[in-house]
Amino acid sequence: MRHRVMLALMVVAAVQTTPAAAQRRGQSDWIELRSANRTVVISDAGEPAARELLARIDRVRETISAGLGDLVRDLDEPLLVIAPRDVNGMRELVGDAAKRNRGLLVAASLPAPYSHHLAVRAGTLESRRAEILMHEYLHRVTQVNVGDAAAWLDEGLSEFWTTIELHEHGVRVGRELPRHARTLRSQRLIPLRDLMAVSRGRYDLAGGRLALFYAQSWALVHYLVTRSASSKVSYAPGPPELDSLEKDFQSYVRAGRFDAIDLPRSDRVAPVAAEPIVRVLTQAEAFSLRASVTVYGEKPGVGFELAERALRLDPSQPLALEGKGVYFFLTNRPDEARMWLKAAAEHPSASFRAHYYYAVLNMGAPLVAQTHLKKALELKPGFAPALERLRSFAKIHPN
Ligand SMILES: [Zn+2]
Repeated sequence: MRHRVMLALMVVAAVQTTPAAAQRRGQSDWIELRSANRTVVISDAGEPAARELLARIDRVRETISAGLGDLVRDLDEPLLVIAPRDVNGMRELVGDAAKRNRGLLVAASLPAPYSHHLAVRAGTLESRRAEILMHEYLHRVTQVNVGDAAAWLDEGLSEFWTTIELHEHGVRVGRELPRHARTLRSQRLIPLRDLMAVSRGRYDLAGGRLALFYAQSWALVHYLVTRSASSKVSYAPGPPELDSLEKDFQSYVRAGRFDAIDLPRSDRVAPVAAEPIVRVLTQAEAFSLRASVTVYGEKPGVGFELAERALRLDPSQPLALEGKGVYFFLTNRPDEARMWLKAAAEHPSASFRAHYYYAVLNMGAPLVAQTHLKKALELKPGFAPALERLRSFAKIHPN
């Protein structure tokens, strides 16, 4: 009996020392999971919640891929998802935008130049989480395929394609979203010219008519995509002719028939589902990954702080060095930016972005710039901005 008590005490002692021991080794509460689709989830919500989220995101990605096949580029690009366990973790990533849109505390897309990340609260039981996740994920698909889309198109595409469903023989998309249909029935439409002038992320400017802005953007994409529906519908409609559109669109909305369309299913094969690769992140890595995302957000200073914390733990953390460099780059302090990006680019595991930005800051020193543009291209083959800058040197010094 006494032996058992001793044993129990020893077990308790062992469990209690674990976090401290983990911290001594520099480990954090954050883990990283990588799937065969190149989806990377980092989370501090524990492994079961992170695994569940990874599987859910991979299902979303595979649905889009099966539905649209080669019409969209998606699975060929890696995706980083940051999945904090609570609302505070989401606020760190999303910033003040969450005050304007509470849904962003469930899932948010975080665009950055040349990449796009997602923030998703792990383990949330919010009823619309699947829909919100799909909506935010589609912003990334839009960015990859359409580039910098206008606000109405960006939001309209995200809403329209959230309804995508796979069937045995095909794909159905565009069923009516009742909340939008209700809004459209109860309010006077925004003139299309005004709707199309709303800028991204500034939806408070839509005269306080946020629900109408979303509803109408959805309906307009619905009209443009389903009207052009053929055996090969593209992901995004082309730019519409405004004048004739206004009248046709108004009658479309007044008719109130938002029917789904069927598309053939692509035969693109998804990678075989395999067990994700799981590893524990060091504290420095956990800080710097969050820095690398937040530095492009509304408050780059949050990213700067996180990068500083990472560098206090590991002064050579490449992503944190890059984060500081990017912070100075974005806040227009090129000398400091050059210094930190130099340190980042000299690290053996520097990212394509560190090399590219360092090259951009050294365009006056062609040898340095060309070396780092080439390194950026080794890491991200075909990266257009680097190719363009290399070509600009070839023009100045033709052989
Ligand atoms: Zn959105």
